[in-house]
Amino acid sequence: MSNLINAIRGMNDLLPSETALWQSVEQTLRDTLSTFGYQEIRLPILEKTEVFERAIGKATDIVEKEMYTFLDRNNESLTLRPEGTASCVRAGIEHGLFYNQVQRLWYMGPHFRYERPQKGRYRQFYQCGAEAVGLEGPDIDAELILLSAKILDKLGLTPYVTLQLNSLGSSVARLTYRELLVNYFIQNQNQLDEDSQRRLMTNPLRILDSKNPDMQKLIANAPTLIDHLDLESAEHFGKLQTYLTSAELPYKINPYLVRGLDYYSRTVFEWVTTELGAQGTVCAGGRYDGLVEQLGGKRTPALGFAMGLERILLMVQQVAKKSMINKPDVYFITEGEDALKLAFKLADTVRNGMPKLRVILHCGGGSLKNQFKKADKSGAEVVLILGEQELKEKKISLKLLRKSMPQVSILQDDLIKYLYAREEFRDIC
Ligand code: ATP
Ligand code: MG
Repeated sequence: MSNLINAIRGMNDLLPSETALWQSVEQTLRDTLSTFGYQEIRLPILEKTEVFERAIGKATDIVEKEMYTFLDRNNESLTLRPEGTASCVRAGIEHGLFYNQVQRLWYMGPHFRYERPQKGRYRQFYQCGAEAVGLEGPDIDAELILLSAKILDKLGLTPYVTLQLNSLGSSVARLTYRELLVNYFIQNQNQLDEDSQRRLMTNPLRILDSKNPDMQKLIANAPTLIDHLDLESAEHFGKLQTYLTSAELPYKINPYLVRGLDYYSRTVFEWVTTELGAQGTVCAGGRYDGLVEQLGGKRTPALGFAMGLERILLMVQQVAKKSMINKPDVYFITEGEDALKLAFKLADTVRNGMPKLRVILHCGGGSLKNQFKKADKSGAEVVLILGEQELKEKKISLKLLRKSMPQVSILQDDLIKYLYAREEFRDIC
């Protein structure tokens, strides 16, 4: 058996049992991107190393320690793409796509980073990215963020993700702030961990991104960039927020969101979840107005995001599991023998009147309080209560378990009519 060859650590085979779900998620992505007017661009998996060094920045985790770089037979340094934006911008410049034009582009495919493999973090992973090039924003910033929200919504993930937002300001404002931050950290140098000591001179903003719990107090007291924005960036950020608010997209400002790549300016955002443990970011992006120029093109404003598909898939699977458990819609609880006898009939009235509903009649007795707990645990949306009082008055009580609404009592004969008349219940049915 010793001559068996296995796959490279952190590079996964996707087996037939998994590919159907992948295809369906990929299709949702393609369809949604297309409805927002984004067009596909297909890019090589290998680029000259310089593309990433220049775009991402030498003092970043990716370039410092995560790239698969090698010399080809001609002694040229090549790198398996660790992300998509640099290649996309390289291609756009090379083919004149950004010349006095607006481009809305997307790509999807494998990317490579030499990281410690764990749940949601692999050495080959799939990203779907979208890039909007040629517009200053903040309207396009809002539109792009709304696109990411729409994708997550189509995948059924909205209840499980939060949008975090920050502005990194202009590069000039960032330089001034950088000095302030370095001074603050120098004054507290004894509290910096090894990684942060190193970053202090190379990339101090990244210290804010540290996950080390011992550093959190120091970080929380650090000056924030958002308080030192240049006027134009502050205005940009303010407008973006009004657009998102009018589109009714909730967001949370996170002044410590700095992103791991050097090329960002102004708007940065992440969609995060608590469902995946440490690997909580499912989508990340921001504005990179300097990048086209940095890669040799004319100065061109742009922004984009990338979604990690493995993390998205993990979430979709988890959510599917949750919704697939045969959750009842209605859990019916009773008090005493007489109520139970009548409940058989009433439960069936509900099943007949609303044939799509899953109605569980509690069996096995117990106090009303205990039955209520069981109702809650079952995942049902509605609990129907037939207690002694209700029985006497020919009534039935009803409470929504997942929304705040006072318990109501109605005549048993009116139950179906009542359920149909109320929007909250019609939704469930
Ligand atoms: P993290 O902080 O988790 O390392 P990142 O900031 O390095 O993420 P980005 O470069 O912003 O990640 O990439 C965009 C998205 O791609 C991430 O939000 C994540 O969903 C996904 N991603 C990044 N690295 C990996 C990886 N090694 N394995 C799986 N997905 C990844
Ligand atoms: Mg990373």
